Amino acid sequence: MNDSLLITGGTVLTVNETNEVIEVGAVLIEQGRIADVGEAAVLEAKYSNIEKLDAAGHVVLPGLVNLHLHSGLIRGTAEDLPVFEWLTKYVDPKHRALTDELAYAAARLSYTEGLLAGTTCVMDMYRFMHRCADAAEQLGLRATLAPYVVDKPGMDYFESLDKNIRLVEERNRTANGRIQVWFALEHLTYCTEDAYRRAAKLAEKYDTGIHTHGEESIAMARRLHAETGRWPVELFYDRGILGPKTVLAHCVWLQDSEMELLAKTGTSVAHCPVSNLKLASGIAPIKELLDLGVNVGIGTDGVKENNSLDMLEEMKYVPLLQKARLLDATAIPAEVALRMATIDGAKALGLDKEIGSLEIGKKADLIMVDFRKHHLTPIIRGKYNNAVSNLVYSASGSDVSHVFIDGKPIVRERKLLTGDAEAIRLEAQEAAEKLFELREPFIPV
Ligand SMILES: [Zn+2]
Repeated sequence: MNDSLLITGGTVLTVNETNEVIEVGAVLIEQGRIADVGEAAVLEAKYSNIEKLDAAGHVVLPGLVNLHLHSGLIRGTAEDLPVFEWLTKYVDPKHRALTDELAYAAARLSYTEGLLAGTTCVMDMYRFMHRCADAAEQLGLRATLAPYVVDKPGMDYFESLDKNIRLVEERNRTANGRIQVWFALEHLTYCTEDAYRRAAKLAEKYDTGIHTHGEESIAMARRLHAETGRWPVELFYDRGILGPKTVLAHCVWLQDSEMELLAKTGTSVAHCPVSNLKLASGIAPIKELLDLGVNVGIGTDGVKENNSLDMLEEMKYVPLLQKARLLDATAIPAEVALRMATIDGAKALGLDKEIGSLEIGKKADLIMVDFRKHHLTPIIRGKYNNAVSNLVYSASGSDVSHVFIDGKPIVRERKLLTGDAEAIRLEAQEAAEKLFELREPFIPV
Protein backbone atom coordinates (compact mmCIF):
# COMPACT_ATOMS: atom_id res chain seq x y z
CA MET A 1 0.00 0.00 0.00
CA ASN A 2 1.46 3.34 -1.05
CA ASP A 3 -0.08 5.40 1.73
CA SER A 4 1.03 3.14 4.56
CA LEU A 5 4.10 3.40 6.73
CA LEU A 6 5.10 1.58 9.90
CA ILE A 7 7.34 3.71 12.12
CA THR A 8 8.91 1.11 14.35
CA GLY A 9 11.47 0.52 17.06
CA GLY A 10 11.31 3.92 18.78
CA THR A 11 10.04 4.90 22.21
CA VAL A 12 6.45 5.98 21.59
CA LEU A 13 5.02 8.71 23.82
CA THR A 14 1.33 8.36 23.08
CA VAL A 15 0.15 11.30 25.25
CA ASN A 16 -3.12 9.38 25.55
CA GLU A 17 -5.28 9.72 28.66
CA THR A 18 -2.88 7.67 30.76
CA ASN A 19 0.30 9.12 29.20
CA GLU A 20 1.17 5.62 28.02
CA VAL A 21 4.80 5.14 26.97
CA ILE A 22 5.62 2.17 24.72
CA GLU A 23 9.34 1.54 25.18
CA VAL A 24 9.88 -0.31 21.90
CA GLY A 25 6.84 0.78 20.01
CA ALA A 26 5.42 1.28 16.55
CA VAL A 27 2.88 3.53 14.88
CA LEU A 28 1.10 2.55 11.67
CA ILE A 29 0.15 5.40 9.34
CA GLU A 30 -2.51 4.65 6.75
CA GLN A 31 -4.25 7.15 4.47
CA GLY A 32 -3.06 10.07 6.59
CA ARG A 33 -4.30 8.67 9.86
CA ILE A 34 -2.96 6.56 12.71
CA ALA A 35 -4.21 3.06 12.00
CA ASP A 36 -2.48 1.24 14.84
CA VAL A 37 -0.19 1.89 17.83
CA GLY A 38 1.51 -0.72 19.96
CA GLU A 39 4.52 -2.88 20.67
CA ALA A 40 6.98 -2.95 17.76
CA ALA A 41 7.24 -6.75 17.71
CA VAL A 42 3.47 -7.15 17.54
CA LEU A 43 2.92 -4.54 14.82
CA GLU A 44 5.89 -5.74 12.75
CA ALA A 45 4.44 -9.26 12.72
CA LYS A 46 0.96 -7.97 11.92
CA TYR A 47 2.03 -5.65 9.08
CA SER A 48 5.00 -7.55 7.68
CA ASN A 49 4.61 -6.34 4.09
CA ILE A 50 4.24 -2.63 4.84
CA GLU A 51 7.03 -0.11 4.28
CA LYS A 52 8.96 0.45 7.49
CA LEU A 53 10.80 3.43 8.93
CA ASP A 54 13.35 2.43 11.55
CA ALA A 55 12.91 4.63 14.61
CA ALA A 56 15.41 2.88 16.87
CA GLY A 57 17.14 5.42 19.11
CA HIS A 58 14.32 7.91 18.51
CA VAL A 59 11.38 9.10 20.55
CA VAL A 60 8.13 9.24 18.58
CA LEU A 61 5.50 11.67 19.81
CA PRO A 62 2.59 13.83 18.64
CA GLY A 63 3.57 16.94 16.67
CA LEU A 64 4.00 20.05 18.82
CA VAL A 65 1.27 22.70 18.88
CA ASN A 66 2.52 26.28 19.06
CA LEU A 67 -0.53 28.04 20.47
CA HIS A 68 0.65 31.63 20.09
CA LEU A 69 2.93 32.78 17.31
CA HIS A 70 3.46 35.94 15.30
CA SER A 71 5.24 35.29 12.03
CA GLY A 72 7.95 37.89 11.62
CA LEU A 73 11.18 39.24 10.21
CA ILE A 74 12.57 41.54 12.91
CA ARG A 75 14.31 38.98 15.11
CA GLY A 76 16.94 40.43 17.41
CA THR A 77 16.49 44.02 16.29
CA ALA A 78 14.24 45.56 18.96
CA GLU A 79 15.75 44.39 22.16
CA ASP A 80 15.85 45.13 25.85
CA LEU A 81 13.06 47.68 25.89
CA PRO A 82 9.96 48.07 28.07
CA VAL A 83 6.95 46.62 26.27
CA PHE A 84 5.14 49.84 25.30
CA GLU A 85 8.29 51.58 24.13
CA TRP A 86 9.09 48.45 22.13
CA LEU A 87 5.61 48.42 20.60
CA THR A 88 5.38 52.07 19.65
CA LYS A 89 8.97 52.57 18.59
CA TYR A 90 9.54 49.44 16.49
CA VAL A 91 6.56 47.10 16.24
CA ASP A 92 3.79 49.46 15.16
CA PRO A 93 6.05 51.15 12.55
CA LYS A 94 6.78 47.64 11.24
CA HIS A 95 3.03 47.10 10.83
CA ARG A 96 2.79 50.34 8.86
CA ALA A 97 5.49 49.19 6.47
CA LEU A 98 4.48 45.55 6.03
CA THR A 99 3.21 44.39 2.62
CA ASP A 100 1.57 41.14 1.62
CA GLU A 101 4.72 39.84 -0.07
CA LEU A 102 6.84 40.60 3.01
CA ALA A 103 4.24 38.90 5.19
CA TYR A 104 4.42 35.85 2.93
CA ALA A 105 8.21 35.68 3.31
CA ALA A 106 7.84 36.06 7.09
CA ALA A 107 5.27 33.27 7.29
CA ARG A 108 7.42 30.98 5.12
CA LEU A 109 10.43 31.62 7.35
CA SER A 110 8.54 31.20 10.63
CA TYR A 111 6.68 28.07 9.52
CA THR A 112 9.87 26.48 8.21
CA GLU A 113 11.68 27.23 11.45
CA GLY A 114 8.80 25.67 13.38
CA LEU A 115 8.51 22.58 11.17
CA LEU A 116 12.22 21.83 11.39
CA ALA A 117 11.89 22.01 15.19
CA GLY A 118 8.89 19.66 15.37
CA THR A 119 5.96 22.08 15.34
CA THR A 120 3.14 20.61 13.26
CA CYS A 121 0.38 23.04 14.22
CA VAL A 122 0.42 26.76 14.93
CA MET A 123 -1.93 29.54 15.83
CA ASP A 124 -0.44 32.50 14.00
CA MET A 125 -1.59 36.06 14.66
CA TYR A 126 -0.27 38.15 11.83
CA ARG A 127 -1.17 40.32 8.86
CA PHE A 128 -2.08 39.67 5.21
CA MET A 129 -3.06 36.21 6.30
CA HIS A 130 -4.29 35.01 2.92
CA ARG A 131 -0.55 34.84 2.18
CA CYS A 132 0.05 32.97 5.46
CA ALA A 133 -2.63 30.51 4.32
CA ASP A 134 -0.71 30.09 1.06
CA ALA A 135 2.52 29.49 2.97
CA ALA A 136 0.94 26.92 5.33
CA GLU A 137 -0.80 25.19 2.45
CA GLN A 138 2.43 24.84 0.44
CA LEU A 139 4.57 23.73 3.38
CA GLY A 140 1.99 21.24 4.64
CA LEU A 141 1.70 22.88 8.07
CA ARG A 142 -1.51 22.79 10.11
CA ALA A 143 -2.38 26.39 10.94
CA THR A 144 -5.07 28.40 12.65
CA LEU A 145 -4.88 31.93 11.28
CA ALA A 146 -5.84 34.83 13.54
CA PRO A 147 -5.40 38.22 11.87
CA TYR A 148 -4.31 41.19 13.96
CA VAL A 149 -7.56 43.18 14.01
CA VAL A 150 -7.39 46.70 15.46
CA ASP A 151 -10.15 49.31 15.29
CA LYS A 152 -8.97 52.18 17.49
CA PRO A 153 -8.68 55.42 15.48
CA GLY A 154 -5.38 56.10 13.74
CA MET A 155 -4.41 52.42 13.55
CA ASP A 156 -6.07 51.42 10.30
CA TYR A 157 -2.79 49.95 9.03
CA PHE A 158 -3.75 46.82 11.00
CA GLU A 159 -6.39 44.32 9.80
CA SER A 160 -10.14 44.95 10.11
CA LEU A 161 -12.99 42.68 11.15
CA ASP A 162 -14.36 42.94 7.61
CA LYS A 163 -11.10 41.58 6.22
CA ASN A 164 -11.19 38.90 8.91
CA ILE A 165 -14.67 37.87 7.71
CA ARG A 166 -13.39 37.59 4.14
CA LEU A 167 -10.52 35.41 5.25
CA VAL A 168 -12.91 33.16 7.19
CA GLU A 169 -15.17 32.86 4.16
CA GLU A 170 -12.33 32.14 1.77
CA ARG A 171 -9.90 30.01 3.76
CA ASN A 172 -11.54 28.52 6.88
CA ARG A 173 -11.37 24.70 6.87
CA THR A 174 -9.42 24.54 3.63
CA ALA A 175 -6.36 22.45 2.69
CA ASN A 176 -8.00 19.20 3.79
CA GLY A 177 -9.00 20.90 7.06
CA ARG A 178 -5.42 21.88 7.89
CA ILE A 179 -6.21 25.59 7.77
CA GLN A 180 -8.68 27.19 10.14
CA VAL A 181 -9.42 30.89 10.40
CA TRP A 182 -10.45 32.48 13.69
CA PHE A 183 -11.48 35.98 14.61
CA ALA A 184 -8.68 37.80 16.35
CA LEU A 185 -8.25 41.07 18.18
CA GLU A 186 -4.92 42.60 19.05
CA HIS A 187 -5.34 43.94 22.57
CA LEU A 188 -7.77 45.74 24.88
CA THR A 189 -5.94 49.00 24.34
CA TYR A 190 -6.01 48.62 20.53
CA CYS A 191 -9.63 47.51 20.08
CA THR A 192 -12.97 49.04 21.01
CA GLU A 193 -15.62 47.37 23.09
CA ASP A 194 -17.71 47.10 19.94
CA ALA A 195 -14.97 45.09 18.16
CA TYR A 196 -15.07 42.41 20.86
CA ARG A 197 -18.87 42.24 20.85
CA ARG A 198 -18.95 41.99 17.07
CA ALA A 199 -16.21 39.34 17.01
CA ALA A 200 -18.20 37.26 19.52
CA LYS A 201 -21.24 37.33 17.25
CA LEU A 202 -19.20 36.60 14.14
CA ALA A 203 -17.41 33.65 15.75
CA GLU A 204 -20.80 32.18 16.60
CA LYS A 205 -22.19 32.83 13.13
CA TYR A 206 -19.22 31.21 11.38
CA ASP A 207 -18.76 28.54 14.06
CA THR A 208 -15.13 29.46 14.62
CA GLY A 209 -12.92 30.69 17.47
CA ILE A 210 -11.52 33.92 18.91
CA HIS A 211 -7.91 34.69 19.76
CA THR A 212 -6.66 37.79 21.56
CA HIS A 213 -3.93 38.93 23.90
CA GLY A 214 -4.68 38.64 27.58
CA GLU A 215 -2.69 40.96 29.80
CA GLU A 216 1.09 40.77 29.96
CA SER A 217 1.88 43.91 31.90
CA ILE A 218 0.79 44.51 35.48
CA ALA A 219 0.88 48.27 34.86
CA MET A 220 -1.59 47.91 31.99
CA ALA A 221 -3.87 45.61 33.98
CA ARG A 222 -3.95 48.19 36.77
CA ARG A 223 -4.55 51.01 34.31
CA LEU A 224 -7.50 49.21 32.73
CA HIS A 225 -8.88 48.47 36.18
CA ALA A 226 -8.51 52.10 37.24
CA GLU A 227 -10.29 53.27 34.08
CA THR A 228 -13.12 50.72 34.00
CA GLY A 229 -13.38 49.15 37.45
CA ARG A 230 -12.86 45.77 35.77
CA TRP A 231 -9.79 43.55 35.35
CA PRO A 232 -8.86 42.49 31.78
CA VAL A 233 -10.46 39.02 31.83
CA GLU A 234 -13.58 40.56 33.39
CA LEU A 235 -13.69 42.99 30.46
CA PHE A 236 -13.45 40.07 28.02
CA TYR A 237 -16.29 38.41 29.88
CA ASP A 238 -18.43 41.57 29.79
CA ARG A 239 -17.80 41.82 26.05
CA GLY A 240 -18.95 38.26 25.46
CA ILE A 241 -15.82 36.64 24.07
CA LEU A 242 -14.96 34.04 26.72
CA GLY A 243 -15.78 30.39 26.04
CA PRO A 244 -14.36 27.04 24.95
CA LYS A 245 -13.46 28.38 21.51
CA THR A 246 -11.47 31.34 22.82
CA VAL A 247 -7.74 31.43 23.48
CA LEU A 248 -6.16 34.25 25.47
CA ALA A 249 -2.41 34.65 25.13
CA HIS A 250 -0.18 35.40 28.15
CA CYS A 251 -2.56 36.12 31.08
CA VAL A 252 0.42 36.90 33.30
CA TRP A 253 -1.33 38.94 35.96
CA LEU A 254 -4.63 37.40 37.01
CA GLN A 255 -6.87 38.18 39.93
CA ASP A 256 -8.67 35.19 41.52
CA SER A 257 -11.90 36.42 39.94
CA GLU A 258 -10.31 36.30 36.51
CA MET A 259 -9.00 32.76 36.97
CA GLU A 260 -12.46 31.66 38.05
CA LEU A 261 -13.99 33.24 34.95
CA LEU A 262 -11.53 31.38 32.71
CA ALA A 263 -12.42 28.10 34.44
CA LYS A 264 -16.16 28.77 34.41
CA THR A 265 -16.29 29.64 30.72
CA GLY A 266 -13.86 26.94 29.51
CA THR A 267 -11.56 29.56 27.99
CA SER A 268 -8.03 28.38 27.10
CA VAL A 269 -4.77 30.18 27.81
CA ALA A 270 -1.66 30.25 25.58
CA HIS A 271 1.26 30.43 28.00
CA CYS A 272 4.36 32.09 26.50
CA PRO A 273 7.05 31.81 29.18
CA VAL A 274 10.09 33.02 27.23
CA SER A 275 8.30 36.08 25.86
CA ASN A 276 7.08 36.91 29.37
CA LEU A 277 10.65 36.70 30.65
CA LYS A 278 12.22 38.69 27.86
CA LEU A 279 9.69 41.53 27.97
CA ALA A 280 9.91 41.51 31.77
CA SER A 281 6.19 40.79 32.00
CA GLY A 282 6.42 38.34 34.88
CA ILE A 283 5.52 34.69 35.48
CA ALA A 284 1.94 33.59 34.78
CA PRO A 285 0.14 31.61 37.52
CA ILE A 286 -0.01 28.45 35.42
CA LYS A 287 -0.08 26.01 38.32
CA GLU A 288 -3.11 27.78 39.79
CA LEU A 289 -4.87 27.77 36.40
CA LEU A 290 -4.26 24.05 35.94
CA ASP A 291 -5.51 23.37 39.48
CA LEU A 292 -8.73 25.18 38.58
CA GLY A 293 -9.11 23.02 35.46
CA VAL A 294 -8.26 25.76 32.94
CA ASN A 295 -6.88 24.37 29.67
CA VAL A 296 -3.40 25.80 29.04
CA GLY A 297 -1.27 25.35 25.90
CA ILE A 298 2.18 26.73 25.12
CA GLY A 299 3.20 29.39 22.61
CA THR A 300 6.52 30.83 21.59
CA ASP A 301 5.12 34.25 20.67
CA GLY A 302 7.02 35.80 17.75
CA VAL A 303 10.71 36.08 16.96
CA LYS A 304 10.60 39.71 18.07
CA GLU A 305 9.59 38.55 21.57
CA ASN A 306 11.39 35.24 22.03
CA ASN A 307 13.68 35.07 19.74
CA SER A 308 13.26 31.46 18.78
CA LEU A 309 10.32 29.32 17.65
CA ASP A 310 11.63 26.16 19.29
CA MET A 311 8.75 24.53 21.17
CA LEU A 312 11.03 21.94 22.81
CA GLU A 313 13.05 24.78 24.31
CA GLU A 314 9.84 26.58 25.29
CA MET A 315 8.46 23.51 27.01
CA LYS A 316 11.39 23.41 29.41
CA TYR A 317 10.62 26.85 30.78
CA VAL A 318 7.07 25.90 31.79
CA PRO A 319 7.89 23.60 34.70
CA LEU A 320 11.08 25.51 35.59
CA LEU A 321 9.31 28.82 36.11
CA GLN A 322 6.48 27.37 38.18
CA LYS A 323 8.93 25.41 40.34
CA ALA A 324 10.98 28.51 41.05
CA ARG A 325 7.98 30.80 41.55
CA LEU A 326 6.32 28.45 44.05
CA LEU A 327 9.53 26.98 45.51
CA ASP A 328 7.94 23.62 44.77
CA ALA A 329 9.81 21.06 42.65
CA THR A 330 6.55 19.14 42.11
CA ALA A 331 4.63 22.16 40.74
CA ILE A 332 4.49 21.01 37.11
CA PRO A 333 5.95 17.63 36.13
CA ALA A 334 7.51 17.03 32.69
CA GLU A 335 4.50 14.90 31.62
CA VAL A 336 2.19 17.87 32.16
CA ALA A 337 4.42 20.18 30.11
CA LEU A 338 4.37 17.62 27.28
CA ARG A 339 0.57 17.46 27.40
CA MET A 340 0.39 21.27 27.30
CA ALA A 341 2.58 21.34 24.18
CA THR A 342 0.49 18.68 22.40
CA ILE A 343 -3.02 17.58 23.36
CA ASP A 344 -3.90 20.64 25.45
CA GLY A 345 -2.83 22.98 22.64
CA ALA A 346 -4.93 20.88 20.27
CA LYS A 347 -7.89 21.16 22.63
CA ALA A 348 -7.57 24.94 22.73
CA LEU A 349 -7.89 24.94 18.94
CA GLY A 350 -10.87 22.57 18.98
CA LEU A 351 -8.71 19.89 17.34
CA ASP A 352 -8.21 17.39 20.18
CA LYS A 353 -10.45 14.79 18.54
CA GLU A 354 -8.18 14.88 15.47
CA ILE A 355 -4.61 15.53 16.67
CA GLY A 356 -2.51 15.97 19.83
CA SER A 357 -1.96 12.32 20.77
CA LEU A 358 -0.96 9.08 19.07
CA GLU A 359 -4.21 7.13 19.12
CA ILE A 360 -5.96 5.01 16.52
CA GLY A 361 -8.16 7.06 14.19
CA LYS A 362 -6.42 10.39 14.74
CA LYS A 363 -4.71 12.32 11.98
CA ALA A 364 -1.07 11.28 11.71
CA ASP A 365 0.64 14.46 12.94
CA LEU A 366 3.74 13.13 14.62
CA ILE A 367 7.44 13.74 15.02
CA MET A 368 10.57 11.76 15.71
CA VAL A 369 13.32 13.10 17.96
CA ASP A 370 16.76 11.54 17.56
CA PHE A 371 17.99 10.63 21.04
CA ARG A 372 21.33 9.25 19.83
CA LYS A 373 23.10 12.36 21.12
CA HIS A 374 25.46 13.03 23.99
CA HIS A 375 23.02 15.44 25.60
CA LEU A 376 20.23 12.83 25.45
CA THR A 377 22.26 9.92 26.81
CA PRO A 378 21.50 7.60 28.55
CA ILE A 379 18.20 6.19 27.30
CA ILE A 380 16.93 4.15 30.22
CA ARG A 381 14.05 1.71 30.05
CA GLY A 382 11.94 0.12 32.75
CA LYS A 383 11.23 1.76 36.07
CA TYR A 384 13.78 4.54 35.50
CA ASN A 385 12.48 5.38 32.02
CA ASN A 386 13.69 8.90 31.25
CA ALA A 387 12.25 9.54 27.78
CA VAL A 388 9.80 12.29 28.81
CA SER A 389 12.25 14.00 31.16
CA ASN A 390 14.99 14.02 28.54
CA LEU A 391 12.57 15.32 25.93
CA VAL A 392 11.36 18.20 28.10
CA TYR A 393 14.59 19.13 29.88
CA SER A 394 17.39 18.12 27.48
CA ALA A 395 16.13 18.07 23.88
CA SER A 396 15.92 20.99 21.50
CA GLY A 397 14.37 21.54 18.10
CA SER A 398 17.56 20.59 16.28
CA ASP A 399 17.14 17.03 17.61
CA VAL A 400 13.91 16.58 15.60
CA SER A 401 14.66 14.29 12.66
CA HIS A 402 11.27 13.55 11.05
CA VAL A 403 7.95 15.36 10.88
CA PHE A 404 4.67 14.00 9.51
CA ILE A 405 1.44 15.97 9.08
CA ASP A 406 -1.73 14.25 7.87
CA GLY A 407 0.55 11.24 7.45
CA LYS A 408 2.59 13.06 4.86
CA PRO A 409 6.36 13.31 5.37
CA ILE A 410 7.22 16.99 5.77
CA VAL A 411 10.73 16.68 7.24
CA ARG A 412 12.98 13.65 6.71
CA GLU A 413 16.40 13.38 8.34
CA ARG A 414 16.18 17.13 9.16
CA LYS A 415 15.50 18.04 5.52
CA LEU A 416 12.36 19.94 4.60
CA LEU A 417 10.56 18.07 1.83
CA THR A 418 7.77 20.54 1.06
CA GLY A 419 9.90 23.53 0.15
CA ASP A 420 13.44 24.67 -0.53
CA ALA A 421 14.52 25.62 2.99
CA GLU A 422 17.59 27.53 1.83
CA ALA A 423 15.62 29.51 -0.75
CA ILE A 424 13.07 30.35 1.96
CA ARG A 425 15.87 31.63 4.19
CA LEU A 426 17.36 33.78 1.44
CA GLU A 427 13.95 35.21 0.50
CA ALA A 428 13.36 36.09 4.14
CA GLN A 429 16.74 37.81 4.35
CA GLU A 430 15.87 39.92 1.33
CA ALA A 431 12.35 40.62 2.62
CA ALA A 432 13.70 41.73 6.01
CA GLU A 433 16.12 44.16 4.38
CA LYS A 434 13.24 45.58 2.36
CA LEU A 435 11.04 45.81 5.45
CA PHE A 436 13.69 47.78 7.38
CA GLU A 437 14.01 50.18 4.47
CA LEU A 438 10.23 50.69 4.28
CA ARG A 439 9.88 51.00 8.05
CA GLU A 440 12.53 53.67 8.57
CA PRO A 441 10.28 56.70 7.78
CA PHE A 442 7.79 55.52 10.42
CA ILE A 443 10.29 55.17 13.28
CA PRO A 444 9.60 58.01 15.72
CA VAL A 445 12.55 60.27 16.41
ZN1 LIG B 1 1.54 37.94 21.00
